[in-house]
Amino acid sequence: MDRLRQEGLGMTSQRTRNRLIQRLREEGIANEEVLDVMVSTPRHLFLDEALAIRAYEDTALPIGFGQTISQPYIVARMTELLLSRAKSLQRVLEVGTGSGYQTAILARLVKQLYSVERVKPLLETARHRLGELGHHNIAFKLSNGGFGWQEEGPYDAILAAAAPAMIPDELKQQLAPNGVLVIPVGAEQQYLTMVTRRQDGDQFDVEKLEAVRFVPLLSGVVR
Ligand code: SAH
Repeated sequence: MDRLRQEGLGMTSQRTRNRLIQRLREEGIANEEVLDVMVSTPRHLFLDEALAIRAYEDTALPIGFGQTISQPYIVARMTELLLSRAKSLQRVLEVGTGSGYQTAILARLVKQLYSVERVKPLLETARHRLGELGHHNIAFKLSNGGFGWQEEGPYDAILAAAAPAMIPDELKQQLAPNGVLVIPVGAEQQYLTMVTRRQDGDQFDVEKLEAVRFVPLLSGVVR
């Protein structure tokens, strides 16, 4: 990829990115590993060029197909939760690749990442971008991620970027012992929810965290 484009200028420059990181700190993100990865991930490359100048605002932005790139704060928060709670990050599943931005962040923090998306054009664009950025530890799948990705499981951690009304049992079942699922849950009001599988088998601890707003987890595949 063009080095200048990756480094960014003006509204996509390192200085602008540093301001976003400062803001994330003020909002309570404290994990230096997460902040380090975020400051060096070019979010503007995950957006259409017309929106790139807004890439370092702390806001969700449209990526087509009625979907959005997640707000940096929520990407940081969910990543921080995974890092703080998961005992291992060898195999991690992401549900809802979208633009591939959260994917890029996770790929730098885990050994092997599996990412599932239901909208084919989004998946293909993200796959292309992440390849250009030099990520080689990500496997992609076009499917309804509400069912997880059974063949590659169990996972040390699962992160979902779209909200189901209730926690899908398949995702819980694909957690390894001590595995952690971070997912927005709820129909009307959504809450960020953290599910931990206990060491010894089939027991899960569920913690309801802050109120959030995500696009809904939908069924079926768009080709
Ligand atoms: N973290 C992504 C978020 C994208 S929005 C980013 O920052 O770009 C959520 C994504 O989840 C959308 O791309 C949407 O198509 C996808 N999605 C919704 N329901 C899904 C499902 N059942 N399986 C897989 N992906 C799904």
